[in-house]
Amino acid sequence: MQKGDLLYAGKAKSVYRTGREGVVLIEFRDDITAFDGGKKDILERKGCFNASVSAYLFRLLEEHGIPTHFMDLVEDRLMRVRALTMIPLEVIVRNVAAGSMSRNYPIAEGTPLNPPVIVIDYKDDSRHDPMLNDDLIVALKILTPEELTRVKDIALQVNSVLVRFFSSLGITLVDFKLEFGRADGEIMLGDEISMDSMRLWDNRTGESLDKDVYRFSKGDVMEVYRRVAEKICAGEG
Ligand code: 5GP
Repeated sequence: MQKGDLLYAGKAKSVYRTGREGVVLIEFRDDITAFDGGKKDILERKGCFNASVSAYLFRLLEEHGIPTHFMDLVEDRLMRVRALTMIPLEVIVRNVAAGSMSRNYPIAEGTPLNPPVIVIDYKDDSRHDPMLNDDLIVALKILTPEELTRVKDIALQVNSVLVRFFSSLGITLVDFKLEFGRADGEIMLGDEISMDSMRLWDNRTGESLDKDVYRFSKGDVMEVYRRVAEKICAGEG
């Protein structure tokens, strides 16, 4: 499949037109960034690992009836997807307190959250992705109240499927970030689900198996990404 014109280049992915209306290609590049782009590097083959993990997890979610933009992986870092009008939200689901939650609120890292906590941020690096609440999301006309209910419902369904899947691999799904978009009036999951957007802890050792290894220089990022990608793509453990 030929890449057409570049439509958009983000911090780690680029989106290209295809010959088909309503279908685009997402290229997972080797760029890795953290802290609003304050830390950045290029790590060889990182894009391939994130693309294969995203493809695996999107397929898994589709099997469970969750609507996603995923069509197929056409090359090792190139994913064919339905074109979406993206909704500028980062929908974060948390099963265990970590990261910004423990930094910003009096709750120790590692505290289980049951039921899971949904946090929704406004996706805008220039504003440092400020947290929203339901009233703000509706007031800003980002979603209708009905759409907001639907987005939260899908996010919790995704969480149920992924928690079960990672548990079978001996991994705790601590938290993750989703992005949604619209196509033909339907809201569906877009973007990626990868080691860049999830927080994963090894159940046995407590070791980070995600971008925290890069954010906080905890070790060999690519060795971790390769190991986790192999484990995920080998399926249930
Ligand atoms: P935190 O709010 O603790 O920084 O992040 C919570 C979860 O959402 C983590 O799994 C983190 O990787 C993900 N996340 C939050 N913001 C972003 C973002 O801008 N980009 C990506 N890729 N993931 C994010």
